[in-house]
Amino acid sequence: MSLLDRAELAPADPILGLTEAYNSDDRPQKVNLGVGVYLDESGKVPLLDCVRTAQQRLAADAKPIGYLGIDGMPAYREAVRGLVFGEESAVLADGRVVTVQSLGGTGGLKVGADLLRQLHPSATVLISNPSWENHRALFTRAGFRVDSYRYYEPALKGIDVDAMLADLRSAEAGTIVLLHACCHNPTGYDLTPEQWDDVIAVLRERDLMPFLDMAYQGFGFGVEEDGAVVRKFVESGLSFFLATSFSKSFSLYGERIGSLSVVTGSADEAKRVLSQLKICIRTNYSNPPTQGAALVTTVLGDRELRATWESELAGMRDRIKKLRRKLVSGLEGRGIGDMCFIQEQLGMFSYSGLTSEQMIRLRQEFGIYGTDAGRMCVAALNDRNVDYVADAIAAVRH
Ligand code: PMP
Repeated sequence: MSLLDRAELAPADPILGLTEAYNSDDRPQKVNLGVGVYLDESGKVPLLDCVRTAQQRLAADAKPIGYLGIDGMPAYREAVRGLVFGEESAVLADGRVVTVQSLGGTGGLKVGADLLRQLHPSATVLISNPSWENHRALFTRAGFRVDSYRYYEPALKGIDVDAMLADLRSAEAGTIVLLHACCHNPTGYDLTPEQWDDVIAVLRERDLMPFLDMAYQGFGFGVEEDGAVVRKFVESGLSFFLATSFSKSFSLYGERIGSLSVVTGSADEAKRVLSQLKICIRTNYSNPPTQGAALVTTVLGDRELRATWESELAGMRDRIKKLRRKLVSGLEGRGIGDMCFIQEQLGMFSYSGLTSEQMIRLRQEFGIYGTDAGRMCVAALNDRNVDYVADAIAAVRH
């Protein structure tokens, strides 16, 4: 008997399963709204001009590819820290923040989860209900019990903040609370600055450990604006974890480039935390890859390229907002006047409020693929398919 006999067949990933079904659908008008990537007007993952130029510069000055340090490329780490904490940040100057390069946002979450598990093995992790589907899986796999706090309330078509605060208030000290810094996936609903203040007050009062996940910086209102949440946490004086990703904002999905920062209470604590983080990394994949870090560092370190990036990011953000408006007005024109909330949501995703039966009908009758929970990727809409999608939604709603 082989050990491998014990391997059970795991269920397929629900989102990837959706893409497989989409790929084998031969209707030409089909639309895949299940994807978690930004697509441009032609329906493709864009290559940003700033990235293309950085690629060319790096190719023109080709260098040998040695190992990076365990915590990644120093210039990359500095660039990330400036971007998320602000160049003038006092916590950076005080040496209280450790930052490591990670394999995308997911890698940052996992390394952070591994460290937390070592520091507090019996802690519970609270994630929002609903949340990105990998949050639960990742923290469960890291050894934690994962529960949720209330967040989206269908009846409100928004966040039930009182319920969220009540759930956080009843959490045990030391509980780890996963929070989406901006552009909540899957709902598109973010806390207001005042609501963040209330959440921070409860985190402090109950002695909870915040873990911010910022996978969409720049897709809400702008790089600075979206990063304001991080600064709020810094100002609060709390220690916290922060995972970031350049997958979406630089359209660098396959490079696996992100970061994990831990804001600690002192420079001495930071030193100890970094030494432990390095063990987590070393025993998983030893050290991170070079290319994504080199691209991001080249762009962020060059005034002109950085300006190009910010304007390309604004272009992606504005295009999504335009598509939200277009979908809403298309629906209004078809007699569906109660879906204007789609315009207020932020980021790539929209909780459409459609039932699972309606989502299944969209799939079966129209070849429009979104998740059963009603999540649609607005960034996969374009001028050619938005009317068709509005027609189909109107048909399943009537
Ligand atoms: N967090 C959230 C909320 C996400 O939506 C995603 C990407 N779908 C990630 C983290 C991870 O992104 P990455 O591809 O950089 O690992």
